[in-house]
Amino acid sequence: MRPVGSHSYAEVLFWGCNPSFVNTGDGVVMIDSPQQPMDALRWREQLSQYGPIRYIINTEPHYDHTAGNMYFPGTEVVGHDGLRDRYDKLIPMFSSDFRLNRMKAGDPDSLWLFNHPDYPPNPPRRTFDEQLTLQVGNYTFNCLHVPGHTAQQIVVHVPQDGVIFTGDNVFHHVKTWCQEGDPWKWIAALDRIGELDFEILVPGHGETCGKAYLAEQADILRRWVEVVSEYVDKGMSEDEVAAQPIDFMRLIDPYRTAQRQWEMMDQANDHTLRNIYKKIAERKGLPAR
Ligand SMILES: [Zn+2]
Repeated sequence: MRPVGSHSYAEVLFWGCNPSFVNTGDGVVMIDSPQQPMDALRWREQLSQYGPIRYIINTEPHYDHTAGNMYFPGTEVVGHDGLRDRYDKLIPMFSSDFRLNRMKAGDPDSLWLFNHPDYPPNPPRRTFDEQLTLQVGNYTFNCLHVPGHTAQQIVVHVPQDGVIFTGDNVFHHVKTWCQEGDPWKWIAALDRIGELDFEILVPGHGETCGKAYLAEQADILRRWVEVVSEYVDKGMSEDEVAAQPIDFMRLIDPYRTAQRQWEMMDQANDHTLRNIYKKIAERKGLPAR
């Protein structure tokens, strides 16, 4: 676990996202939860030395940020209003064969916790639309709605420690996934994040970084839009564009999928390309094809 502020920590090497926490002096506030069940239990054990875990703040609805919530029974989950519905829709996935098989292949130590009755789903109970400020112990947590990577995306700014937890609005030197987000809103979100006062940025994936990386993240999104726009302007359909031999690493995003998602490199490119295609077509008022 890496110190990222005087009382703030991030774990950047797990399978999944970068779960983080702040030791407030009156218990712990977590930002996102470890994806793998065994990691989640070990994490809970470690954090218990700082007192009770008061909140889990989910930065987004995707599985890699929310699947671990259930291993913190009784801890109130906080997130955007839209997270409630998204979490409910994910519940079947938590006990799916897809997940079971990935666990068997990559994390057999966690198998005994799969569908364990002591750990039922833990959905968000405190949600907000634009902004929520939580005061816990010596710390203020400013949760801001900044749609980008998803429509429900939030960041958690902790001014006392000069740290911001951006979730997947920032992928630092790892592959950027934009499988459903709006790239233009995302770029605007990065501008807004840049206006906040912080020293350390904890991204959703990859190593911690600073404010300077926001520009590089925006450039990756701009290149996605540029490259796909050229094909859209030639009148090609989504499937035709998806079949093009595009050198994504040279033209758009030089980074690889991280944190045990390596086998999903092609999927990340395909899903992002298809989403960007749809968003560009929508913007140009073109019919779906
Ligand atoms: Zn993620």
